[in-house]
Amino acid sequence: MKPAAFDYVAAETLDEAVSALARAGGDGKILAGGQSLVPMLNFRLLRPSILIDINRIRDLGHVDATADVVRIGALTRHHALETSPLIKAHLPIMTAAMQHVAHLAVRNRGTIGGSLSHADPAAELPMMAVLLDAKIKIRSLHGRRVAEARCFFTGSLTTDLKDDEIVTDVEFPRLLPNTGWAFEEVARRAGDFALAAVGVTMSVHNGTADRVRIGMTGVGETPLRASEAEGLLAGKAVDAQALEAAASAIEAAVEPNTDLHASADYRRFLVGALARRAISVAWQRACGA
Ligand SMILES: Cc1cc2nc3c(=O)[nH]c(=O)nc-3n(C[C@H](O)[C@H](O)[C@H](O)COP(=O)(O)OP(=O)(O)OC[C@H]3O[C@@H](n4cnc5c(N)ncnc54)[C@H](O)[C@@H]3O)c2cc1C
Repeated sequence: MKPAAFDYVAAETLDEAVSALARAGGDGKILAGGQSLVPMLNFRLLRPSILIDINRIRDLGHVDATADVVRIGALTRHHALETSPLIKAHLPIMTAAMQHVAHLAVRNRGTIGGSLSHADPAAELPMMAVLLDAKIKIRSLHGRRVAEARCFFTGSLTTDLKDDEIVTDVEFPRLLPNTGWAFEEVARRAGDFALAAVGVTMSVHNGTADRVRIGMTGVGETPLRASEAEGLLAGKAVDAQALEAAASAIEAAVEPNTDLHASADYRRFLVGALARRAISVAWQRACGA
């Protein structure tokens, strides 16, 4: 199918883009990498009156780091994240996760701002944002605001973004030295969306797990944190018993959907198995193994 007719503007600046979006009165759409938007237009699941292309705006494609955070511009392509030495040094779990995102052709165009705004419930970057407590920076004609990633994703393909708002940057706190991490995913074929994926970061304090974070995608309407399992592991050595308790808590907490690709039961089984693996690898890395 072909999309319904729309107007098109190629914004040269952020001010131009937010003005055009405000003028559209809720009927405009930002065009970033187009990897999710264009199929939705072609299937006529969306019929915006105007597309506001942000690809010509300078300074939205940066990756830089301060002492505390890595700042990623909304137009940064997935492939740039996958290959960035800065990301590898400060957020190695993201480098690992990006290798599971789609195929190279899609990673060459898709952007972090598009992925977070699109909010696919099986996507990797929204899960990274929730796992790593990212802050999402947002602009509209009325000014700027910052959204905590944990509050940003409100449902499947639904976020806290208003019709007239644009994501400009995402700030990820750098992983502290000696942080153990792991990312585990199962998809039907390489490049497909995850059936389930789990990301874990933790450190070791006095021989026990500390600052434990567990994120999941593909097993709910939004990316999730496994808060109960995080609490069960904190302050304990990660032995077989602790691992089993955490994985069981995760299996009990999730409410996956059955769809064309997998049953809810299979997804629940998968997320438990992936959590066992990811927690174990993160612990070993944190212990310096
Ligand atoms: C074959 C295929 C396989 C894929 N597999 C995966 C996968 O395994 N994992 C995965 O995570 N993704 C996957 N994707 C999706 C891909 O990562 C997309 O690139 C991403 O979801 C959307 O990014 P985009 O830049 O292309 O956004 P677009 O398609 O341009 O936009 C998507 C939505 O976000 C809005 N938007 C875009 N940028 C902004 C912004 N800065 N501020 C506000 N709103 C904005 C748009 O208006 C639109 O509603 C796949 C896509 C394809 C085609």
